[in-house]
Amino acid sequence: MRTEQGQATSSPGRGDDAVDHGGRKLRTLEQCALHRRTFRLTCPACGHVRLLDAIPLWWLFTKRGWDDGLPHAIRRLCCQPCRDGGRVVRPRFVVTREQPEGPQPPYPNHHEWKRVVSRYRS
Ligand SMILES: [Zn+2]
Repeated sequence: MRTEQGQATSSPGRGDDAVDHGGRKLRTLEQCALHRRTFRLTCPACGHVRLLDAIPLWWLFTKRGWDDGLPHAIRRLCCQPCRDGGRVVRPRFVVTREQPEGPQPPYPNHHEWKRVVSRYRS
């Protein structure tokens, strides 16, 4: 997979990665995936941070038939350390361009991903 030739016009300081290059808001996991965004999830209870790649997250929702509209899609997620401790805590999230970290959900195969990208371009 080829990364987009980013003309480095991402406005420094503003830091709003929740929009595409046309300045439109990314409203679904699919749009975030197509724009290669990462979700930074922060647990308000324990401070645990996860960096989740939008692509496998979108794929997870697609396979399960879940609505991927933001921000409510993220509310399906909960903090794992808190859940291990018996509490369900919904993380806060921001859309970033950071490198994903740690375990990710399974990625779509190349064929599935190509199909989405071509649908988006058409
Ligand atoms: Zn937590």
